[in-house]
Amino acid sequence: MRWNMPRASTASGRRAPSLVSVTLTLMNARAPEVASVAAGVEFVRTLTDQCKDAIKVEEHPGPQVQGRAALEQFVKDRCWGHHASCTCPIGRDGDRMAVLDGQFRVRGTKGLRVADASVFPRIPGFFIVTSVYMIGEKAAEVIHADTLAPDAR
Ligand SMILES: Cc1cc2nc3c(=O)[nH]c(=O)nc-3n(C[C@H](O)[C@H](O)[C@H](O)COP(=O)(O)OP(=O)(O)OC[C@H]3O[C@@H](n4cnc5c(N)ncnc54)[C@H](O)[C@@H]3O)c2cc1C
Repeated sequence: MRWNMPRASTASGRRAPSLVSVTLTLMNARAPEVASVAAGVEFVRTLTDQCKDAIKVEEHPGPQVQGRAALEQFVKDRCWGHHASCTCPIGRDGDRMAVLDGQFRVRGTKGLRVADASVFPRIPGFFIVTSVYMIGEKAAEVIHADTLAPDAR
């Protein structure tokens, strides 16, 4: 997946925004999330195999999708969840997947922070919105503290 986002790269933050291209590579062929969902489908099939009389047809992925590779491809192409998260994770210096530092700042830019469901390094549970509210509270605190600091940026 690719998309463009505004770049706020000057120290003053006043330059007209340009565009920077971001490429998401999380869903690569070996991503553990993909393998995990495919394994889940395989597991559910072991259950549904035991009650074939009660099930008319497997609609998704469908009986034609067989084998781990095909299942993983199906997952990559078709799966979606409305608790999407973790696309801009906070992480340590040196972690190449850490889009943000611990102050919610986008590494390599100035004047740009992220404070939403994308910041989690891992999905914080099945229902994530309360964690998102906490991220918002924490980010407000950090940003407020920064504005009071002598070298505020
Ligand atoms: C159908 C559905 C049901 C859900 N049910 C639950 C549930 O029961 N429990 C739970 O924990 N989670 C649930 N979630 C997930 C939860 O709602 C989200 O994880 C959470 O809202 C994400 O918060 P966010 O701040 O990252 O994004 P959002 O809540 O989507 O906030 C983004 C905000 O940015 C605004 N925006 C977008 N573009 C711009 C722009 N260019 N300029 C200015 N503003 C902009 C949008 O209008 C929006 O207000 C559900 C999600 C969906 C879609």
